[in-house]
Amino acid sequence: MNQMMRTVGILGIPFLSTDMNGLVNMLDKRLEEKKKTFLVTANPEILMYAKNHPDYDKTLKKADFVIPDGIGVVIGSRILGDPIPERLAGFDLVFRLFELAEKKGYTLYFLGARPDVIAGAAERVTTQFPRIKIVGFHHGYFDMEDTSVIEDIKSKAPDILLVGLGFPKQEEWIDRYGEHLDKGLMIGVGGTFDGITGRVKRAPEIWRKLNIEWLYRLIQQPSRWRRMLALPQFMAVILREKMKR
Ligand code: UDP
Repeated sequence: MNQMMRTVGILGIPFLSTDMNGLVNMLDKRLEEKKKTFLVTANPEILMYAKNHPDYDKTLKKADFVIPDGIGVVIGSRILGDPIPERLAGFDLVFRLFELAEKKGYTLYFLGARPDVIAGAAERVTTQFPRIKIVGFHHGYFDMEDTSVIEDIKSKAPDILLVGLGFPKQEEWIDRYGEHLDKGLMIGVGGTFDGITGRVKRAPEIWRKLNIEWLYRLIQQPSRWRRMLALPQFMAVILREKMKR
């Protein structure tokens, strides 16, 4: 775990306590220095999963940085008395990285989502950022044992590798195969490629400002309700922790 930036421990996971500009500047510096970086965007659901799955918890602890991609984490930090300044949404970070990559010439590789979605996402991003260099992409429906995927990525040596396989698969894949790469910023980005193609719509700004993006997603994809049960469980764990202090 990188100790250069301030972190706040939540359920044993050190979350970066910074704003989006601070995060992007720090990542830019590491990209310039060609430092390999494993970044996790975690929400209460991921934390609860890690609590019940020690192997996944170990994987999260191998990350160089964990950012709070969920208002629940920010609220949790406030309850515990060490507030994180803001939610750092993976989706927003990805767009900041596209801007940065276009400006600085960093190359990208997209991994994950359905074949039509990932091709569509690469096309959309290239339309929006005409000078961006996407050196390759691959869909996310392959066998975990399949090494041809990492071989392709290694041969293209991207500066930024976005892995959208959903959790826990994306972090497990990075943990397992990231060591084959010599450099690169590797991030698990969940359903971001579906968001880029418009297959899954992002909440309008007002919903995001009110911190109810999760509710918008629930309305769009009602099948996610079961996943959301992690939130009250997470809050209960936080309150228990608070009482212990
Ligand atoms: N996915 C994939 N391979 C798999 C399972 C899922 O590439 O074996 C993709 C899926 O197509 C979607 C993303 O992973 O693009 C998961 O999206 P979800 O919204 O569940 O992730 P979240 O953002 O909630 O972590």
